[in-house]
Amino acid sequence: TLTIASLKKDFKGTPVLKGISLDAASGEFLSLLGPSGCGKTTLLRCIAGLETTSAGSIHIAGQDVTDLPPEKRHLGMMFQSYALFPHLSVRENVRFGLRMAGDQPKSRQKELAQAALERVQMGHLGDRMPPQLSGGQQQRVALARAIAVEPRVLLLDEPLSNLDARLREDMQIELKELHRSLGLTTVFVTHDQEEAMSLSDRVVLMNGGVIEQIGAPEEIYAAPRTAFAADFIGAAN
Ligand code: ATP
Repeated sequence: TLTIASLKKDFKGTPVLKGISLDAASGEFLSLLGPSGCGKTTLLRCIAGLETTSAGSIHIAGQDVTDLPPEKRHLGMMFQSYALFPHLSVRENVRFGLRMAGDQPKSRQKELAQAALERVQMGHLGDRMPPQLSGGQQQRVALARAIAVEPRVLLLDEPLSNLDARLREDMQIELKELHRSLGLTTVFVTHDQEEAMSLSDRVVLMNGGVIEQIGAPEEIYAAPRTAFAADFIGAAN
């Protein structure tokens, strides 16, 4: 489980997260949804340990990780800014992720990398170089790199936003199946309401650095609790 309590983040005195509290249950798929600039990516980066926090705490599986560096948090990350290395093969890309995350023996790293690639139907393409892959295949490899480390929480920042509509839909289905089979606690950032609604157990609706509402997709649709929530959900319908 993931527990965030009263988390605040300022950038040079400007508050960007203004007291965020939320829980994700074990195996839950949570989406952070909201307009551009509301703080979704910043919140995810705080969970990942890529940003320091200004106040509040983050616990993962009961452990206080608020001040731990990213590699000690046992998380899987798939961020747009974390592209594949073009000069490393698919297999080497996934193993690079494993090397960063811990110091298992090489033979174990090999096994974990291959298992993760097979999970995303890329087991046969380990020798390929990223430029020789389609966009969807590259996303799969990035996903394999994120899950190979057997993370306690999987963090995904708009992982599908570079894909065309058709591929995006396919990848949504795959992501959902993968989530179901792995049972991984997942936090997924998107500004796409439909995507959030179709993938998530619960949606965290953010605006201006605060949470407007947390609830199951149907709950947010049927009973928006603030004027912002009603507007935001209504605008996309
Ligand atoms: P988007 O959907 O456009 O990615 P977001 O909800 O993920 O938006 P963030 O990227 O978290 O929003 O940004 C929230 C606010 O924090 C924005 O106003 C942004 O300009 C500001 N911000 C983010 N990173 C920094 C930084 N390193 N330094 C200063 N301000 C920042």
